[in-house]
Amino acid sequence: MSGLPRRRAPRPLVLLLCAALVVASLPESSAALPGIIDYQRHLPRRFRKVRRKDTRFIIVHCTESGLRSALRTLSRKGLANYLVARDGRVYRILSHRYRANHAGRSMWNGITHLSDHSLGIELVGYHDRPFTSAQYRSLKRLLEELQRIYRIPDRRVLEHYRVAYGRPNIWIRRPHRGRKRDPGVNNFSRILAGLTNPEPQVDPDVAAGRLLPDPEVVLAQLGWRRHGLPVRVADRHVLTIGPMQTAWEVAGAAYDRPTTIYTFPGGRRLRGDQIRNWSRIPEGTRVILGPRRARRKLRVVRVATVTARRTPWQIARGDYDSPHTRYTFPDGRTLRGDQVRDWSRIPPGTRVVVGAPSS
Ligand SMILES: [Zn+2]
Repeated sequence: MSGLPRRRAPRPLVLLLCAALVVASLPESSAALPGIIDYQRHLPRRFRKVRRKDTRFIIVHCTESGLRSALRTLSRKGLANYLVARDGRVYRILSHRYRANHAGRSMWNGITHLSDHSLGIELVGYHDRPFTSAQYRSLKRLLEELQRIYRIPDRRVLEHYRVAYGRPNIWIRRPHRGRKRDPGVNNFSRILAGLTNPEPQVDPDVAAGRLLPDPEVVLAQLGWRRHGLPVRVADRHVLTIGPMQTAWEVAGAAYDRPTTIYTFPGGRRLRGDQIRNWSRIPEGTRVILGPRRARRKLRVVRVATVTARRTPWQIARGDYDSPHTRYTFPDGRTLRGDQVRDWSRIPPGTRVVVGAPSS
């Protein structure tokens, strides 16, 4: 017998762990994603690569710029995992294993900070100009590969505009969708990107009352409905006109906005700005209120400052309490005319901008 100690047989637990490690490392070692231009050397030397918490989503963006400027901006801070150029070439900004800071203030189905849970793909181009077929071909291949690696179904491949949201501000008093437009509400084609489920039909955060809807998305869905595709708008945000109620009482100052949508009992839909006869809004009409865009274009009619002798009435006349008239107080606060409660408290030095909607 030799005096050497007997080697212990590996325990089953150790074997199991080894097997698990091999399986876990498979996605990284597979010859995934061929033909990609590795651009990671352009990341700053101090850039710290960190792993994501998990990978549940893929978010599609567009750069709103050309290729050169996008490469520079994205690689300076690792703001995407991949970039797809107009000619279909794919650049790896940051390996899919690491967290890219691409989603900003974002939420889907109650999950926030989506950069911690998603890969980010940027398309070179603009939210209101079509992407090229070469881009769609490359994106389709890239998505197939990443979805396979991380087992992400089509419904969790989402456009940035769907998941971004804005904080309350003086125009929209609650957290709301509509902070981002990329890669384009009416521009990006899920079908060309190979996503068989064409359209997430309900925004889960709007449906749950966590966020107000983005009127542009609601309108786009209404458009699709006209083209025969099914759509459901979350009922929580639909108000109904009751007996003896006017549109004004239900929708307030938003009654005639293009973002307010009226569905009449017969099923006909009109936007607020399409309705001519306000005395004919029947009981039972459903009203969907969309948030107003923060930067609504107003034509400036008059600008003046309140003094001891110059009152808001003298400056704005009949428009003194209009939503188109803005009061900026000496302390920097701004209110619309229809938000001012106490007219005796407009201090001298308040700037008044009288506006009219530009048509
Ligand atoms: Zn984006």
